[in-house]
Amino acid sequence: MSGDPARRPLHHKILLGLVLGAVAGIAANRLAASGEGAQQTVAFLADAVAHPIGQVFLRLLFLVVVPLVFASLATGVANLGDLKKLGRIGARTMGFFFLTTAFSAVLGILLIESFRPGVGFDAQTRESLMRAFGGEAARVQAAAPTGQTQGALAIANLVLDAFLPRNIIEAVVKMQMLPLITLALLFGAALTAIASERRAAMVRWLETIAEAMVGIVGFAMKLAPYAVFCLIFSVVARFGLELLQKLAFYLILVLAAYAVQLFVLYPVLLRALARRRPVEFLKTCIPVIVTAFSTSSSNATLPTSLRVAQQDLGIRPTVAGFVLPLGATMNMNGTALFEGALVLFIAQIFGIEMPLTKQILVVLLCVFSAIGAAGVPGGSLPLVMIVMAQVGVPPDGIAIVLGVDRLLDMGRTVINVMGDVVCSAYIERVEAQDPG
Ligand code: ASP
Repeated sequence: MSGDPARRPLHHKILLGLVLGAVAGIAANRLAASGEGAQQTVAFLADAVAHPIGQVFLRLLFLVVVPLVFASLATGVANLGDLKKLGRIGARTMGFFFLTTAFSAVLGILLIESFRPGVGFDAQTRESLMRAFGGEAARVQAAAPTGQTQGALAIANLVLDAFLPRNIIEAVVKMQMLPLITLALLFGAALTAIASERRAAMVRWLETIAEAMVGIVGFAMKLAPYAVFCLIFSVVARFGLELLQKLAFYLILVLAAYAVQLFVLYPVLLRALARRRPVEFLKTCIPVIVTAFSTSSSNATLPTSLRVAQQDLGIRPTVAGFVLPLGATMNMNGTALFEGALVLFIAQIFGIEMPLTKQILVVLLCVFSAIGAAGVPGGSLPLVMIVMAQVGVPPDGIAIVLGVDRLLDMGRTVINVMGDVVCSAYIERVEAQDPG
């Protein structure tokens, strides 16, 4: 490899940013504990230097999400040509999403059930964590959709609002992606019925928008190594190692389950369904993995995953443009795993029995709430509180883990996004083989 740092491949620089950011963050955290002056200096560095640099990167990515999702999904569908093909790809994609998400929720529950990290969790720690993070839990709960938990009519309205709101602009302003996806799918489907000349003109237009948005992501990626350093630095500097120790067993179990997903389940699926070489595939995905890890946001990672899928993994724009935007919103394996594990963990801490029937209900609720969760940092937290309430686990119990959730969020976002990329490789293979 070249010794000239300027010529190092981008993903090496990003990884370097990640490692250095973590090391600097730990050092800063230690330093902050040494006195008030040091604490102020660290807070200044985190708030006035690291935060804005990280945010410029993050916001550049968020900036392009709405036009990119719309343009790439609509072109993806319009280019399929006919609705029969859309039905086939759609059914395969949804089948993949559903099965992998359910598998993940089961894995999370099984792990926590087998090792029972919440049993014997000392009551004093529980109380002090509840006191420290109770306020934050109330804030998270306030963000949850309200009034929807009772009655069939209320549930029907909730689902309707999620997919077909009365006002698309209002939904987009709130960064709700499901309605945008519905509109893009319908727009693309309607285009297929329009005379080919006019359809082609519109598709070219949309393709150009998508390409330009990916170009903006290219600018953002130049900043990535520094931004990743800053994002990781601010998270780690704020973490107390003490908090990590208290919840170590739970953290290790959930992180181990993520590792199983990434290094066992996905490679198996890549080989069996996508006929890809897993090691090479995962290596190529490093920019996607690092972006997901440092932003904790599937939405913010979407531009990068589209770029890597099309440019480096040889996935056609019709497939990537269809599967990835859909997956960023609907396919959250890591989130389902985390939700299942969390509900069981909190139940154990409070000594609440979770018989098999309840666990099955948890799996189902986790699958649906993972579909509904927004692809932003902590997007699943309000929904997991609803799941907890539904199965008789106190939702405020989430306060116990809120302090370390960012760390788990980073991991689950990687699993979420990689699930989408693996799915796109699978669809690419079956479509290449069976294009008719
Ligand atoms: N941060 C996750 C994502 O964007 C969502 C969540 O589970 O909080 O994929």
